[in-house]
Amino acid sequence: MEGEKYLFVVAGPSGVGKDSVMAKVRAAHPEIEKTVSITTRAPREGEAEGVNYYYRTEAEFQQLLDQGEILESNCFNDHHYGTLKLEVDRRIAAGKTVLLNIDVHGAANIKRLYPGSTIIFLLPPSWEELEQRLRGRGTDSDADVRNRLAIAREELQRAGEFDAWIVNRDLDQAAAELYETIARRVGQPE
Ligand code: 5GP
Repeated sequence: MEGEKYLFVVAGPSGVGKDSVMAKVRAAHPEIEKTVSITTRAPREGEAEGVNYYYRTEAEFQQLLDQGEILESNCFNDHHYGTLKLEVDRRIAAGKTVLLNIDVHGAANIKRLYPGSTIIFLLPPSWEELEQRLRGRGTDSDADVRNRLAIAREELQRAGEFDAWIVNRDLDQAAAELYETIARRVGQPE
């Protein structure tokens, strides 16, 4: 599908700063859109329905899955997360440049479904920094943080499967590199 080249997945361990880097790029380039995923986890403070996620019950999630409306999904830290097919396809059909923020497994699935897409791995500057960021966020329980770190260890081992890598040492620099990666593939996004 021609529009696939406008699809960019930003993956990487929880706490690495995917949301912040994407938000920075989108603030400077509002023509770049992002999909909103569906999740069964509760909203964190400051998060809003339809902005950060669509928050749904397990039963609702399962129903959407059964109806074939979820493109790829993952169970992360005992909660389900999924990309709605419509969120991606309507943007590709409209020729939009679109960013997806998903986990490492999800990125590999998207690449299989849309071989023309670009999957980008966002790396922390160091393991210690990732741990500090996850703990410093203060939004997750200690058990949650430990789980997220265990998942991160596995995810980091899959970095080699990606098309591009960005180290999030400095937010401005990482955002600039993400934009350059996009512009190299599609020119100036519309
Ligand atoms: P969080 O609970 O921190 O918002 O997200 C946990 C993890 O789930 C993050 O690594 C995030 O990128 C990932 N995630 C969010 N939405 C999706 C999705 O639609 N599909 C998949 N596979 N992962 C997702």
